[in-house]
Amino acid sequence: MKIGIPKERREDERRAAASPETVKRYKGMGLEPVVEAGAGAGAAVADQVYEQAGASVADEAGVWDSEIVLKVQRPTEAEMGRLKQGQILIGMLDPYNSKDQVEAYAKAGVSSFALELLPRTTRAQAMDVLSSQANLAGYKALIDAMAEYTRVLPMMMTAAGTVTPAKVFIVGAGVAGLQAIATARRMGAVVTATDVRPAAREETESLGAKFVGFVPTDAATKGGYARPLTPEAQAEQARMVAEHLKTQDIVVTTAQIPGRKAPRIITADMVKSMKPGAVVLDMAAESGGNVEGSKPGKTVTVGGVKLIGARNLPARIAPATTVLYAKNLMNFVQLLVDAKTNELKIDTGDELIKGTLLTTGGAVVHDAFKPAA
Ligand code: NAD
Repeated sequence: MKIGIPKERREDERRAAASPETVKRYKGMGLEPVVEAGAGAGAAVADQVYEQAGASVADEAGVWDSEIVLKVQRPTEAEMGRLKQGQILIGMLDPYNSKDQVEAYAKAGVSSFALELLPRTTRAQAMDVLSSQANLAGYKALIDAMAEYTRVLPMMMTAAGTVTPAKVFIVGAGVAGLQAIATARRMGAVVTATDVRPAAREETESLGAKFVGFVPTDAATKGGYARPLTPEAQAEQARMVAEHLKTQDIVVTTAQIPGRKAPRIITADMVKSMKPGAVVLDMAAESGGNVEGSKPGKTVTVGGVKLIGARNLPARIAPATTVLYAKNLMNFVQLLVDAKTNELKIDTGDELIKGTLLTTGGAVVHDAFKPAA
């Protein structure tokens, strides 16, 4: 059974859905890995390295002629024409922003899995693409913001005097935010953070940062995600953020609500009140923006404050994120292939399969996307 790894064709995508290590493991599982020529170029993996690990290298048509296809991002329009009946497609398919495409997978007779929908359970941790990618993205966000900051992060004591440490504020202390906190702490900054989930306070403090703001009791779902704030809670948060921002040097915002536009937390007036030379990096710029005026992929200066709109941060450190993403996918593929017979076995009773399976047998089957009865 062939398992194909096409070259990613969406703009700015540099990751690949397999690494030499996972290619080797697929071979060990009795599968035949087929990698498209150049698929690893953005992640610093040459075709020969995939070959040495046991893959064959093919052209685009050869790769899509596989029983299982592994992707980073959802297929392009041209790639949609290459899907074939009975094929298995696995990747970050972004179904909330591509509902028509979900229907097209069903029409094409493909069993499609969107790995962002994986339930955040202990068993799922090794397959959790959101966590592995957000973790490294949170690190890269702080590094990018630091690169635009023209003062220094740590306190520096010199014969000529002392330079005070930078004040870093992280909005949203989830997976990415916690890594941004840890990175800023390693650089010696004075770090504060806020979130709306009750668990975030302790996690922030365990990294040596100070939690600021209040935590509404009803702002987390059972699945551990944030809910949109009530208008009252939003106003309370806005008051706190507006006051705190006036003294901050670097701000990284990471707030997201799954399946919805990112919450707007920093307004243009708040940016205006910040110190000249301050830097704000909006990690949610592509999903609506936590910061008014941020533009994905662009850095704009507003009244002396630099606003960086992040765009696909994981792709900017593709050699590192590819290793983790590929491993997440391999752990997921193991769920689908019977270890004894090496045959496909999709157990729709398994909560990890049920949680991610968008389409199969010609129909949309995921509860969040199937047509209303
Ligand atoms: P996310 O990317 O959906 O959101 C990022 C952060 O923004 C979250 O912490 C969220 O609470 C916060 N946020 C949302 N609205 C906000 C607002 N208005 N103001 C301030 N902050 C706001 O979240 P994530 O990083 O994917 O993490 C989601 C949850 O999943 C967390 O509880 C995390 O601990 C949990 N998790 C569990 C596992 C596991 O057990 N397998 C793995 C990873 C994550």
